[in-house]
Amino acid sequence: MLNQTLTEKFKKIQTPFYFYDIELLETTAQRAIAEADRFGYKIHYALKANSNHKILKLLSAAGFGADCVSANEIIRAVECGFNPKDIAYAGVGKTDREINTALDLGIFTFNCESLPEIENINHLAEKKAKTADIAIRINPNVDAHTHEYVTTGLEENKFGISEWQFDEVAEKIKLLKNVNLICLHFHIGSQITDMKVFETLCKRVNEIQTTFERFGIKLPHLNVGGGLGINYQNPDMYPVVDFKSYFEIFNKNLNLHSGQQLHFEFGRSIVAQCGSLITRVTYVKNGRQKNFVIADGGMNDLIRPALYQAYHKIENLTSTKDAKIYDVVGPICESSDCFAKNEPVNETQRGDILAIRSAGAYGEVMASQYNLRELPKAYYSDEIEQ
Ligand SMILES: *Cc1c(COP(=O)(O)O)cnc(C)c1O
Repeated sequence: MLNQTLTEKFKKIQTPFYFYDIELLETTAQRAIAEADRFGYKIHYALKANSNHKILKLLSAAGFGADCVSANEIIRAVECGFNPKDIAYAGVGKTDREINTALDLGIFTFNCESLPEIENINHLAEKKAKTADIAIRINPNVDAHTHEYVTTGLEENKFGISEWQFDEVAEKIKLLKNVNLICLHFHIGSQITDMKVFETLCKRVNEIQTTFERFGIKLPHLNVGGGLGINYQNPDMYPVVDFKSYFEIFNKNLNLHSGQQLHFEFGRSIVAQCGSLITRVTYVKNGRQKNFVIADGGMNDLIRPALYQAYHKIENLTSTKDAKIYDVVGPICESSDCFAKNEPVNETQRGDILAIRSAGAYGEVMASQYNLRELPKAYYSDEIEQ
């Protein structure tokens, strides 16, 4: 994918920038949709992973619904071809302005994270003489075995409604006239690579669904969120996630009633592998204990290593020499501005072009102008290769 021809083009572009392999994105999207279709499942793409117009248009055309976490994401999704009826809206702090926007557009569900939020949505819907379809986001207290900053399904996390609140919430919802509970929603974390976690989730969903049925509530939809992890170590060996095995876990372990629709929300597993941050080496600084490669991209362009201690594979696209061990760092005045420590990279010199791989998800969307730097631009394989 990142071949010699591309490298020659990269040399002519101002770095750092994001590069997206559109062919890989299309393959990934089609595979995910095809595997979900085998079981009649619906996938919503989580915009927060990457909200570039071009990527969103491709994914809406491929048949994804959308999963949004702000009104601006909902507006962007609609602009890029997603049907409002296919938009799920999550988040612990939806404001009145945001809720009103979503009510006006008529989205699929408000995924509600607390009783005060449900009451507020009911109140705002009443003022518009509408009924809002809602899901309760459940905190199932399932450990996702992932980084603590991307774990969301434990009682200590701010997300969702916990088991001890179920009766109170169910009773209250029955009294509210302008909300209609149609779905239970779960999202327990991100970058989950241990598939047993999803089996555990299925078992919890079954139990919780039974509890709600005991309250006399029947649900036409279930939404089990996203979180499917990707392989950051070997992006070329595993460019597309094993969606087949993943969906089979749900098919085998989740009790769906006849006619009940199962929904998923994927971010990372769709867009991570198609993106790389391309950066140029400004200096190589040899120390006594360490050799540093100082790149022109920094933590403002890709914050995942600094924020989550995330690993991204780093390739030198312009060197064929033997690998040496480097710390690959950015120019920003923070010690956390480091992409990788003790990373084997082909022997590097000033001017070399590096690709920081698997950066399509939670990369460009989190870029900032810290240190008054420019925001990174995006380039796409189908435009750059002509
Ligand atoms: C972030 C998020 C997702 C997507 O998570 P990935 O790990 O990128 O698949 C799905 N649902 C909700 C509610 C989210 O907040």
